[in-house]
Amino acid sequence: MFLKGKSAIITGSTSGIGLAYAKVFAAEGASVVINGFGDAAAIEKERAALEATSGARALYDAADMTDPAAIAALVRRCHGELGGPDIIVNNAGIQHVAPIEDFPADKFEAIIKINLTSAWYMMQAAVPYMKAAKWGRIISTASAHSLVASPNKSAYVMAKHGIAGLTKTIALETATDGITVNCISPGYVWTPLVEGQIPDTMKARGLTREQVLNDVLLSAQPTKEFVTPEQVAALALFLCRDEAKSITGANLSVDGGWTAA
Ligand code: NAD
Repeated sequence: MFLKGKSAIITGSTSGIGLAYAKVFAAEGASVVINGFGDAAAIEKERAALEATSGARALYDAADMTDPAAIAALVRRCHGELGGPDIIVNNAGIQHVAPIEDFPADKFEAIIKINLTSAWYMMQAAVPYMKAAKWGRIISTASAHSLVASPNKSAYVMAKHGIAGLTKTIALETATDGITVNCISPGYVWTPLVEGQIPDTMKARGLTREQVLNDVLLSAQPTKEFVTPEQVAALALFLCRDEAKSITGANLSVDGGWTAA
């Protein structure tokens, strides 16, 4: 249990990849703060299960990642109730698929706020605590779309490229403070976020569900398999180990070979 005594905040962890991060940190004894939206009873069940796994505390905080004040309050709450934060994972994200001329401005603004700006505010709030502790791990879920583009995802690709730049910058700013800052860039991971974009992609490209799965999503991935949330979380856990302390400012692909092509 190498994370015993440490605390981790994982944004957007009520489902998908975020919940997988929370589970691996809890399994190593960390106290965790989960965040995101969803059914209250289902969230409480996950929270209680995390506490049972870790033997430490697990909190749920409903901070909306579009709200900088709520983000700062989330970090202060973690510090007050659990200590740290020692680990932050910027993971909350949404998607919208449409050509630029049809892209609703409110969707564009929401994607930039949730997928990109929130990570800047999280880092601004957490770095002073990490510097004082002389230890910290900052991990962001970027995407293969931090390295390459796809049509009809202008806001998402813009946000994820931004995460890659933010990662490099804060890695340089914290390099002598015992803090590492990295992003993980998954290819297609089977989660509610991917499921949700299938109808829009069918509409935008005039395709059937099967065509979207095989000709759009998995066509990019040479392995022809979806990445799993557990594979992404395993890399995040490794980044928290002392053996990973020289990995900083990196953008690590877990994409079945997508960006090698
Ligand atoms: P998901 O839809 O399962 O999870 C998204 C999480 O973000 C949920 O917990 C949701 O409640 C939360 N969220 C949404 N809006 C929020 C807000 N305003 N404030 C707080 N939380 C909010 O999706 P996922 O696939 O697990 O995605 C997680 C991250 O991984 C995202 O950043 C996504 O861009 C990235 N990613 C996903 C894939 C993929 O194929 N699924 C690939 C690459 C990167």
